[in-house]
Amino acid sequence: MTTLNTWVPVPEKSDFSIYNLPFGIFSKNTEAPKAGIAIGEQIVDLALVSELGLLDVDAGYFKKSTLNDFIALGKEITNKVRLDIQKLLVIENSPLKNYPEVFVLQKDARMHLPVHVGDYTDFYSSIEHATNVGKMFRDPENALLPNWRHIPVGYHGRASSIVVSGTEIRRPMGQVKTNDMKAPVFQASNRLDFELEMGFIVGKSTELGERVSTKDAANHIFGLVLFNDWSARDIQKWEYVPLGPFLGKSFASSMSPWIVTLEALEPFKIKGPEQEPEVLSYLEYEGDRNYDIQLEVSMSTSTSEDITISKSNFKYMYWNMMQQLAHHTVNGCNINVGDVMASGTISGKDESSYGSLLEISWGGKKPFELKDGSKRTFIENNDTVTMRGFAEKEGKRVGFGEVTGTILPSR
Ligand code: MN
Repeated sequence: MTTLNTWVPVPEKSDFSIYNLPFGIFSKNTEAPKAGIAIGEQIVDLALVSELGLLDVDAGYFKKSTLNDFIALGKEITNKVRLDIQKLLVIENSPLKNYPEVFVLQKDARMHLPVHVGDYTDFYSSIEHATNVGKMFRDPENALLPNWRHIPVGYHGRASSIVVSGTEIRRPMGQVKTNDMKAPVFQASNRLDFELEMGFIVGKSTELGERVSTKDAANHIFGLVLFNDWSARDIQKWEYVPLGPFLGKSFASSMSPWIVTLEALEPFKIKGPEQEPEVLSYLEYEGDRNYDIQLEVSMSTSTSEDITISKSNFKYMYWNMMQQLAHHTVNGCNINVGDVMASGTISGKDESSYGSLLEISWGGKKPFELKDGSKRTFIENNDTVTMRGFAEKEGKRVGFGEVTGTILPSR
C-alpha cells in the first residue's frame, strides 16, 4: 500500500483512516439526512462538495435519505467519488481547506440506516459455528448436516426490522416449549442472544433468471458492515423445524452505519479455509476471497462497564461472499441494490472466539462473568451488546466503527 498523508487530523487507531473512507447517511440538528464519507472524527458532506463543483456526481444523489440511487450509478462512478475525496483530503492546496462547513463532527451527527434494504438473506457459513450448534441441538458425533459442506446454507430473513446501530431493541415475546413442558407457553424470551456477523451490501442488481458467477460476484458487492443478528434461542428452538428460523430472528437485526467498500478492503484479502470435499463447479473460485478482519464483541450493563467477551475474525468463514452470491443467484433469483446478505455467526476455533452466547455459555450451561462480577448466560434487560471490527496491515487501518444495541423489557 502506498502511504497517504491527509491534512485532516486523524487520531491514531482511528477506524476511519485515509485508506478507508466509508459511505454513510447522516443528519445534524433538524436537517434532512444526506450522504457523507467518514474521515477521522469527522464526516465529509458529499452534497456540499458536489455543489462546489468538485465531484462528477450531481449533489441530488447525496441529498437522499439512502445511498441506493448513488450505489446504483455503478462502481466506476462510486469508486471515483471515493478516490476524488481521498485526493482532496491529501493534496496540499486542497480547495476543501477553504470550506470548513464541508466537515461535520461525527459526535454532532446522527447516523441513519445507509441503504433501503429490500431483501435480507442470512447465511450460515462458519464451520465452527455450525459445528457447535449441531453438537448442542442435534448430534455431537455428526454435528454438520450432510449438505453443509456442499451448499452455502442460508435463509431469507426479514428486511423491515433491520435497524441502525444504537437503536434500542425490545425483548421479543413468543411461543416457547422446553423439553420438560407438556405444552407451549407464551412468554418473553429468556434466551436472548446476539450473533456476531458481517453483512455485504449488494451494489449491482440482476435480472430475474440471471446468474452471478464467483468470478463476477465482487462487481455486485458495494461494501461491508458489521451485523448483529439478534436471536431468541428459546423461540427459535420450538419453531425452526421444518422450515427454519422465523420469529426467533425477525424481531430485529442491527447494522453499523458506515459501509466500508470492497475496494478499501482489497489489501486485506486472505486465503480461505481448505474446502473438503471439492465443491460443485459453480462454487469454484480463484484467488484469495476471504478477508482478514478482526472482530470483537463486548457487553456492558447498567452496573457494569463494557468488557470484551469474544474475539473472532472474518477470515474464518468456510464459504466466502463470492460463493454465497453465486449460490444465491444460481437458480435465477434476482438481487437488488441495497439487499443485505449476512455471513452467519462468525466463530473461531476456541471458546474465546465464539460469536454467540449460545456457544459462549454452551447452551446456558456455562455462565460467564461481567466486569462487576455479575453472571450471564443470555442477555438480560438493559444489557448493551457492542461489536467492533477492523483490518490492519503495515500500520494502516480500515475499520467499521461499531454496531451497538441495548435490550429493553418486553411490551
Ligand atoms: Mn444469523
